[in-house]
Amino acid sequence: MATKKKNTEQGIDWNYSPSLESTSHLKLKKKYDLFIDGEWVKPSSGKYFKTVNPANEEVIAEIAYGNQEDVDKAVKAARKAYTDVWSIMPPAERAKYIFRIARLMQERARELAVAETLDAGKTIRESRDIDVPLACNYFFYYAGWADKLEYAFPNRKVESLGVAGQIIPWNFPLLMAAWKIAPALATGNTVVLKPAETTPLTALILAEIIEESGLPAGVVNIVTGHGDTGAAIVNHPDIDKIAFTGSTNVGKIIQKALAGTSKKLTLELGGKSANIIFDDAPIDQAVEGIVNGIFFNQGHVCCAGSRLYVQESVAELVIQKLKSRMDSLYLGNPLDKNTDIGAINSKEQLETIHKYIKIGKQEGAEMYQPKCSIPTKGFYCAPTLFINVAQSSVIAQEEIFGPVLTIQTFRTVDEVIQKANNSPFGLAAGVWTDKGSRIFNLSSKLRAGVIWANTYNKFDPTSPFGGYKESGFGREGGLHGLNSYVKLS
Ligand code: NAP
Ligand code: MG
Repeated sequence: MATKKKNTEQGIDWNYSPSLESTSHLKLKKKYDLFIDGEWVKPSSGKYFKTVNPANEEVIAEIAYGNQEDVDKAVKAARKAYTDVWSIMPPAERAKYIFRIARLMQERARELAVAETLDAGKTIRESRDIDVPLACNYFFYYAGWADKLEYAFPNRKVESLGVAGQIIPWNFPLLMAAWKIAPALATGNTVVLKPAETTPLTALILAEIIEESGLPAGVVNIVTGHGDTGAAIVNHPDIDKIAFTGSTNVGKIIQKALAGTSKKLTLELGGKSANIIFDDAPIDQAVEGIVNGIFFNQGHVCCAGSRLYVQESVAELVIQKLKSRMDSLYLGNPLDKNTDIGAINSKEQLETIHKYIKIGKQEGAEMYQPKCSIPTKGFYCAPTLFINVAQSSVIAQEEIFGPVLTIQTFRTVDEVIQKANNSPFGLAAGVWTDKGSRIFNLSSKLRAGVIWANTYNKFDPTSPFGGYKESGFGREGGLHGLNSYVKLS
């Protein structure tokens, strides 16, 4: 079937042939066990769960369901590897292993990208061009720091923490694993990592890569499972640090569970980020930035620009151009290189998004969805715009985690700062304007961890990332990311 792209503004109607990424080079196992102490071990319960391709609802593989006993085995292996090998290894030697992992990831980049797309539903364009190269770069970047920690923290004594328990979500499965594992290893810690239930595959391929790299047994352990597997990691008495990325609700549960213990904690949680367009902004670029910020990757981005604030004098123009751009977005098979919007990660997530769309309509906002054909199999959601949204409405306050954008207008700088900061979250923000002084003004007043100017969703291993308020605390990436894994004296 031909892929159709339409540009109503210019009256152009193109037909693209499908351009499917091949899956033939990907050799997945039918069943994956747990990766503990350098070996593939069966879960002690004997239970497995299925991981599904959300683009067509087909089962991809069976995955071991790790329980408390398995987590305990993994923590014991990580402790032993920490004491006997990793914490006493010369840092330059540690760096070589991390570099090797990065290089092996690059060698298997196509395989990782296809696996990520199959398991998560995200477009191949994104997993190939963003997730996988960035994940490799985080390993390269932190490998470079391993033997330079005394320069990262001058005049301080730097010690590793011990065993890090790491729990990650489904929206950037491999990238989140890289964000967590690379700095932990560089600073001399060992790891027990749990990927999300719906997207375990790339973490398991990473485990194969780690095995191939010759990393000493037990330094990295991957324990797949559900929420209770994560809770077993959080509550294990011999873990020194928990690094969690996921929802604010689970983040709160974890924070309560750790209160009064000596475990260190970093939380990277939800967001409801404001994208702000001033009347002097380059409007076409800004529209592209909005689309990139909320519709690509199906809005499955913690820092998605899900609240749009447009200066009143250009609001009509921006909305018209945005609708026209939305009309040309192609939704469908994530493996097709033409696809802009892939599949929603799971049936549950699709239901959540539909619930919010219904609320938005009930709240009286005006909705726009382009007329795009939705595949009958799989989980898909059309890009959705809500205009005339009240600041207090549920769809402007709560994280939807789907391709749903709310639009509000503003007149003055002070007004938009107040509106943008009127959120329980504070992960990211975008500012579109021609004036550098305005960018500096806003970036010091917006309560958000990352502020992009005239761009959106740009990541780099050298740059720290993290939130304010209910978006969490602690930073990942850059020099700051090392801080979360060391004891300084
Ligand atoms: P989630 O439900 O909180 O799950 C995150 C991880 O925690 C999963 O591995 C999950 O396992 C596990 N988990 C669930 N219950 C747990 C418990 N009681 N104790 C310990 N672990 C538990 O979040 P999600 O729905 O996967 O991810 C979406 C959320 O992540 C969004 O809110 C998004 O904003 C946020 N996010 C934030 C960032 C950031 O850097 N700030 C980045 C990406 C995503 P199961 O999968 O098995 O349930
Ligand atoms: Mg899956």
